[in-house]
Amino acid sequence: MGRPGYMPKSFMLTYENFERYENCDNPQEVLKDIAKDLPVVTYANNDTVRFCDTCQGIKPDRCHHCSMCQQCVLKMDHHCPWVNNCVGWGNYKYFVLFLFYAILYTMYVALSSLKYFIKFWSGGHHMKVSSNLHVLFLFFVAAMFSISLWSLFGFHIYLLLSNRTTLESFRGPIFQHGPDKNGFNLGRSNNFRQVFGNNKWKWFLPIFTTPGEGVEFPVRMSTSQQV
Ligand SMILES: [Zn+2]
Ligand SMILES: [Zn+2]
Repeated sequence: MGRPGYMPKSFMLTYENFERYENCDNPQEVLKDIAKDLPVVTYANNDTVRFCDTCQGIKPDRCHHCSMCQQCVLKMDHHCPWVNNCVGWGNYKYFVLFLFYAILYTMYVALSSLKYFIKFWSGGHHMKVSSNLHVLFLFFVAAMFSISLWSLFGFHIYLLLSNRTTLESFRGPIFQHGPDKNGFNLGRSNNFRQVFGNNKWKWFLPIFTTPGEGVEFPVRMSTSQQV
């Protein structure tokens, strides 16, 4: 599924900075001093710098530490147990496309077995019993997967168009003016392009087209004006 992207070296504390951080009375002041040279606009609680003790680095905006991957994951969406991989900045397009392809496939299977399913219930008992069961099973499994994939896909389309990750839909990122779930919302079209890129021909293909580096994200105009 591709890598979600991890905390870059430039956000990790250098040896000198780590010494400073460890041996001073006010570690937050040291972190604030380091963070001012980094493209960071979000905070942890009480306006403190978002810092990961395990990775020993300043978390880029929208980055979260995944306890399963034991790493800080860029624009982390969720850790997916189905593919045993984190879904984040670098593979979110692939994840959405995967749901889309899987829906097409399960719908195709469900719809093409539908007529046999109807035939079975309307008394077409001239089919062999064993093949009846196979067709029934196929139809049910395809229909069940299709329904659950549709709800997951619907949720992620909503997230995609409002420029939120699954994590941010539970807890809005904290800006200087406070928590704001719409802080990165640039309008539907721009939000979509921030994941899928600008080239329409590549939207439906499993090619990497996500712009940027995964550490810096434009904020909504009204957000920066309020600050
Ligand atoms: Zn971490
Ligand atoms: Zn993970």
